[in-house]
Amino acid sequence: MSEFRADLLSDTLTTPSEGMRAAMAAARVGDDVFGEDPTVLELQERVAGLLGHEAGLFTPTGSLANQLGLRLHVSPGQELLADSGAHVVRAELGAAATFSGITSRTWRSERGRLDVAAALELVTVGVGPYQVETALIVVENTHNFGGGTIVPLETIRELRSATTGLGVAMHLDGARLWNAHVATGVPLESYGREFDTVSVCLSKGLGAPIGSVLVGSRAAIDEARVWRKRYGAGMRQVGILAAAGLYALDHNIERLADDHARAARFAAAVAEAAPEALDPSTVESNIVMVDVAACGLGSAQAAAALLERSVRAYAVDARRLRFVWHLDVDDSATDHAIDAVRDVLASG
Ligand SMILES: *Cc1c(COP(=O)(O)O)cnc(C)c1O
Repeated sequence: MSEFRADLLSDTLTTPSEGMRAAMAAARVGDDVFGEDPTVLELQERVAGLLGHEAGLFTPTGSLANQLGLRLHVSPGQELLADSGAHVVRAELGAAATFSGITSRTWRSERGRLDVAAALELVTVGVGPYQVETALIVVENTHNFGGGTIVPLETIRELRSATTGLGVAMHLDGARLWNAHVATGVPLESYGREFDTVSVCLSKGLGAPIGSVLVGSRAAIDEARVWRKRYGAGMRQVGILAAAGLYALDHNIERLADDHARAARFAAAVAEAAPEALDPSTVESNIVMVDVAACGLGSAQAAAALLERSVRAYAVDARRLRFVWHLDVDDSATDHAIDAVRDVLASG
């Protein structure tokens, strides 16, 4: 458990519950490099089914699931397009360039919203040996650095119908697609079907200690499986982790609504005291961005003042603090965070 009264640093902080640990201890396992771990096979099939795809591949991290997906679609020297705040271009430490020879170009987005016109304006296809060829567009839903923003299905469909004609593939970074699904009621499959590949995280709000799944066509996943081994992430009796993922799917999806309700309550209470710091109508899931600079504070300074009040948040940039709700943050921790944040903002 966290030493802080309200630990809102990230939804990756969750620790496995007693029930999850029991499921892990009881898992049937085998050697997954030989494709013989029944629990991994069950998890992969289950997630693929939920997202409307043929096959899935378990990976230790979301970054690896994304990177395996990207390299399936983009050859060395080609490019991917994403918004400038996307995890694949900001937080994967240049992996697409380092491992796959992929160049990236970005469009600017407001709060991580998908701007279809801006994305399409960058698409460059059929330009022979003169310019870099666009092979892939990456969409992130919900959008992390955008503040948990949900990308509407209609907008995704608009982009998909345009890119299909251009021969450009689409990958979904769905680390928090579960949150988008719970907040909107749109079936996971409806989102999943609009993409060639999708990655989802089990270790964020769903509460598993480790694990992501990449889904796609059978052929795509067969190829990703070879690359996973080449990267050194072929794992053996990893069913003990897959069991945590299955437990998370059974128990922790619908409860994300509680995280969303707490985030909304926090946002409304903070905005009431400091309307310049955030617009609560922009809070769509479990993430709240607070513009502490609008209250005359630096983000590092505000984060330090909150730590003194036993609240932990993440300084995403010089202006903003990010607060993330998850299953280890309850109502009383939320109340405590509200008081502490109002207090700190008033000091600015
Ligand atoms: C957390 C996250 C990932 C994956 O992160 P890992 O730490 O590699 O598991 C990918 N995309 C987004 C949007 C994320 O928030």
